[in-house]
Amino acid sequence: MCWLRSVARLSRSSITRVPFNPRSLSFTTTASAAPPSDTAAAAPAITRGEWSTVSRGFVGLGPTVPGREKPRLVVLGTGWAGCRLMKSVDTNVYDVVCVSPRNHMVFTPLLASTCVGTLEFRSVAEPVGRIQPAISHAPGSYFFLARCTSVDPDSHTVKCETVTNGSGSVPLEPWKFEVSYDKLVIALGAEASTFGIHGVKEHAIFLREVHHAQEIRRKLLLNLMLSDVPGIPEKEKRRLLHCVVVGGGPTGVEFSGELSDFIISDVFERYSHVKEYIHVTLIEANEILSSFDIRLRQYATKQLIKSGVRLVRGIVKDVEPERIILDDGTQVPYGLLVWSTGVGPSGFTKSLDLPKSPGGRIGVDEWLRVPSVQDVFAIGDCCGFLESTGQPVLPALAQVAERQGKYLAHLLNQIGKAGGGHATQAINLDLGEKFVYKHLGSMATVGRYKALVDLRQSKEAKGLSIAGFVSWFIWRSAYLTRVLSWRNRFYVAINWLTTFIFGRDISRI
Ligand SMILES: Cc1cc2nc3c(=O)[nH]c(=O)nc-3n(C[C@H](O)[C@H](O)[C@H](O)COP(=O)(O)OP(=O)(O)OC[C@H]3O[C@@H](n4cnc5c(N)ncnc54)[C@H](O)[C@@H]3O)c2cc1C
Repeated sequence: MCWLRSVARLSRSSITRVPFNPRSLSFTTTASAAPPSDTAAAAPAITRGEWSTVSRGFVGLGPTVPGREKPRLVVLGTGWAGCRLMKSVDTNVYDVVCVSPRNHMVFTPLLASTCVGTLEFRSVAEPVGRIQPAISHAPGSYFFLARCTSVDPDSHTVKCETVTNGSGSVPLEPWKFEVSYDKLVIALGAEASTFGIHGVKEHAIFLREVHHAQEIRRKLLLNLMLSDVPGIPEKEKRRLLHCVVVGGGPTGVEFSGELSDFIISDVFERYSHVKEYIHVTLIEANEILSSFDIRLRQYATKQLIKSGVRLVRGIVKDVEPERIILDDGTQVPYGLLVWSTGVGPSGFTKSLDLPKSPGGRIGVDEWLRVPSVQDVFAIGDCCGFLESTGQPVLPALAQVAERQGKYLAHLLNQIGKAGGGHATQAINLDLGEKFVYKHLGSMATVGRYKALVDLRQSKEAKGLSIAGFVSWFIWRSAYLTRVLSWRNRFYVAINWLTTFIFGRDISRI
């Protein structure tokens, strides 16, 4: 049944939007290999003849036909890099097919604010169909809610598998398919680093996706309510209300700041029975905000301590369900544990048979091409300059990903307009200017209407760095203007205003 439903879904979109072309659209079954007549029984439109089978055992979109069809640009991932690219790609030149396990982009700099109800979750999620409308209506352009499972540069295809978790109590069987590309952009992002520490994946919550923020908010509110129940022992109350953040980078600091703001402004007032018990501890092995100017670091430390955040210098050795163990043997009981110790290449990125940059990311040249294979590009946190380029691997930042996406969209548009859009047609084209990254600076909020703005181009460089209320105002204005759509910009502004007037939403939904 699940299989039939998946076929029906695929057939509906393809048949209404793609004219018959046995080469460009070829569908077959996966493991069960049911004959086309079975498929036709499930979806009546199939009888028109749009279906043919391929022998490799995967359904999918076959190669495009030059002269008859637009070249197909396949984008893997809907993060900062992939979405910025799709926004600027010329859909008169390319059909765009996007494959990602999530159908929206997350505006990550404001994600921490959603964990405590300063912002609503939808305010930081931008549906991909609004970023690139062609995906919703142009024939030949699609969004597939799926994970790419392999890339074959020789046959110019990617294999994918639908994402079916969270679809109810009975999980759907994943549906496998393949997509041929003329140009492939890999924008898979990175994965939270756990340094192989036992228990992190099982017991800590990362802060990278909207569902992580939802989990944090639910757990925080649950613990607040549980600790209010009569008969809960003192010790247990303290444990439940001990929020531990591991990692003193910008995300860990911003989250700790948001949490202490929430405690001071909302918990003290609305959970006054337990206000003496709630605490935030931030654990960092080195110095917090190590990439920021020393003055700003000192300011952040002072500010966090003032807001009640306990700063602990230590290395986590083991994570158990209710406590963490530090390398000096200290045991830290917790009710909520948020893990934010940086990122590294994902298992899938590591598994790809492509050249790698130092650090194990996908290696690219100065035009963001993956050398040694044709028509493959990589952008964002998943890529890094190859050692042979002489360029440093860029930091895992939205501003890098966004600018790479924008640069590559223009490069691909230029290639397409020069007649090099189809597979293997861009070999002798002049690609023009290389990608050059100029760091614009860093910002982080530390709560209580205070933030840090560090406009130095690098750690060693000189430049403006300010902290305090003015920085907080700059931080908010800068991110409000960076939010992708007017709709979300409006949501964010209204959420901030509502929180300011009425306090944060503390309903546990
Ligand atoms: C909480 C938080 C706050 C941050 N704040 C800032 C900030 O203030 N300033 C800043 O510059 N940077 C910030 N960053 C970093 C910034 O968000 C990242 O550098 C940026 O998201 C990288 O963009 P990306 O497109 O490379 O990857 P991502 O945005 O991570 O997107 C990767 C995409 O690939 C998809 N994907 C993964 N595996 C597969 C697969 N197998 N097949 C298909 N798709 C797949 C994912 O679902 C996702 O859609 C923050 C990050 C976090 C988590």
